[in-house]
Order: sequence, then structure tokens, then C-alpha cells
Amino acid sequence: MLNPSQQEFSHLGSPRDLRARPLRDLRISILDRCNFRCSYCMPKESLCGKHSFLPADELLSDEEIERIVRAFTSVGATKIRLTGGEPLLRPGLPALVKRIAAISGVHDLSMTTNGVLLPRLAVDLADAGLDRITISLDSLDESVFSLMTGGKASARQVLEGIAAAEAAGFQQLKINCVVKRGTNDHTVMDMVRHFRGSGHVLRLIEYLDVGNSNDWQKGQVVAGHEWLRRIHHHWPLKPLKYQQIGETAQRYAFEDGEGEIGLINSITQPFCGYCSRARVTADGLLYTCLFASQGTALKPLLGKADGNTDLEALIHKTWSNRDDRYSETRHLVPGRDKGQEMYRMGG
Ligand code: SAM
Ligand code: SF4
Ligand code: SF4
Repeated sequence: MLNPSQQEFSHLGSPRDLRARPLRDLRISILDRCNFRCSYCMPKESLCGKHSFLPADELLSDEEIERIVRAFTSVGATKIRLTGGEPLLRPGLPALVKRIAAISGVHDLSMTTNGVLLPRLAVDLADAGLDRITISLDSLDESVFSLMTGGKASARQVLEGIAAAEAAGFQQLKINCVVKRGTNDHTVMDMVRHFRGSGHVLRLIEYLDVGNSNDWQKGQVVAGHEWLRRIHHHWPLKPLKYQQIGETAQRYAFEDGEGEIGLINSITQPFCGYCSRARVTADGLLYTCLFASQGTALKPLLGKADGNTDLEALIHKTWSNRDDRYSETRHLVPGRDKGQEMYRMGG
């Protein structure tokens, strides 16, 4: 109901994948390290020592990231999201943001972050040309927050990050809340109450079976429609039309005018049919699905001074051959390899 029909893709530029989906968005992981240890993404127990993260000399440089973004914009991507790992940990981040913001094909430059370093960086990121920020916050209850995120920081610090982003001029922040039944679901209504009327948009995310280390169980997922019913009971909601093709969240407005919320129902209502997102890891592997286990190496082409045309051709070809729709088919192949970890792939 809230998403466009596939025919609506027809006015957009090429390339199309095997299911006629255009390439519109690039999520680029700029660092796989993180200062959190979220139980659903990077559980402490899953990291086994110093080889857990990429060595610094394997990370894409700022120049390489800029070349990759340029190549993606040349083949149709207009929305770029910087992610990780924790992107705010990357040294010299404002300078990288400035380089990317200056690329003419980039119409929307955003970042997903856990927010704790925003008090230090928000103003510089705004000055560098970052358009939008999404901040992850799973609970306002400190003990629940700690359980979800591994005890490395507090919810209060994330709220300070949100305040810093507001003060730097970022408006209508998106607040991502992954819901795990039995861990933080009893605190979700407090999150709804807190962000209602704040000018920001809370998005409740169904816990995903991505990666092989979070020990995901189906019973830990709370279906988005449960929240719809519960929230609507307290504060009546009305559906909003999608804003952009390929958007992941179903949007609802509070009927009393106190803003909106989003539901990202990747498990119970997969949206592969409209998925226009490519992902590049911090070491330059291109993936065409969050759950893909094979990536395409872009780095070899970055070594060539005249490799830009080849890079565009490789991206074009990889996207044209894409047939991914993991979320629509997960129930058909139980026990299947669930690809890379989220912090490597870039959420
Ligand atoms: N570190 C940043 C952060 O947490 O916002 C950016 C990277 S993180 C991988 C991007 C997003 O993926 C976050 O909003 C996080 O909550 C979400 N995420 C990670 N693992 C997930 C999972 N198993 N299911 C659903 N969302 C997940
Ligand atoms: Fe770090 Fe983000 Fe993964 Fe949490 S979800 S461990 S903050 S990368
Ligand atoms: Fe896109 Fe893959 Fe997610 Fe489907 S499962 S929406 S194809 S990233």
C-alpha cells in the first residue's frame, strides 16, 4: 500500500537489475571498527582477538572512497549513506564528508551513527556538507540500553549526541531502534512517548538475521504490525505515502499532529521488490544485498590511474546481473549462510 508499484521505476535511469530495480542508493562502510558491542550486530563473544577488524592499510583511503562514490553517481546513484562499524571513529571524517558532498551527482548525503561522538563532531560535519543523520538508540532505560549495546556507553550519551546534532542544525533526525523481544521490547512505548512531538522520527526495526554471529532466533522478532496496533491504540496513526522510491520504512503520522514514526518490517513484510541499495565495505567489496556472501572487489581498479571507466563498467555489470531478494526467500532455505556481519557490510 505504501510502496510504489514496480512500473514506477520505469522513468528512472539505468542500470536495472534482473528484476528491473534501478541503482539509486549507495551505503558505504568507512570503517568496520566500533566503540559499541551491540548484541545483534557485534556481540563481544563473536570477536576473537586482533584479527577481528581490517588492518588500517586495507581500508579504503579518502581518495579511493571519493572515486568509488563518483563512479556510483555516474551510473545512477544519487543517495549516499556513510556507515560502518562506527563512522564517527574514522580519523579526518569532516574532510572526507566535504570531498563527497562536493560531487555533483550526490543529491543526498547522510550518515548512520551510534551518536556518542556527535558532541565533538556534529558542527564540523554540518559545515562539511552532511545533509542528514540517523542515530541509533535502542532504549532510554540505561540497563536495557547496556544489554542491547554491550555496556560501552550510556543512553544519556546518545541523547547528548542527538542534542549536539540538533544544535548543529540537523533537523528531523531519524532515530533507529532495533527491537529484540525479551530484551528491549518493554521499553519501546517509552521511546515512542519520548520522540513524539520532538521533531525527530523514531523508526522501529525488526531484528534481522544478518550475519552468522548474533544467534538470531525468529522468536526474538517483534512484528512491526504489533507496534502499529499498540501505538495506534494510545495515539491514533494514519499512513503516509512514501516519499522516495525504495525507502525501507513504512511511515505513519500521529493524527494529533505530533510528528511521525516509521516501521522497518524487513522480516514480516520484505521490501526486496523495491530495493535499490548497493553496499561497499571498508575494504572496497561491492555487495548487492545485505545478506550476500560474495562481494565484487573494486580495489584492483582503483590502483589504475585511468581505472574510472572500468570501475563504472564493473558496477554497471554487477548491478545488471543482480537477482538478490533474500528477505523474500529466507523461509524457503532455513539454515542458509547469512552473509557478512552487519558491521562489515555497513547497515
Ligand atoms: N554504528 C552505527 C549505528 O549503529 O548506527 C552504524 C552502523 S550499524 C551496522 C547501522 C544500523 O544497523 C544501526 O541502526 C543498527 O541498529 C542496525 N543493525 C545492526 N544489526 C542489526 C540487526 N541484526 N537487525 C536490525 N538492525 C541492525
Ligand atoms: Fe557498532 Fe552500530 Fe554494530 Fe552497534 S549496530 S555494534 S553501534 S556498528
Ligand atoms: Fe535488498 Fe537484499 Fe534486503 Fe532484499 S534482502 S531488501 S534485496 S538488501
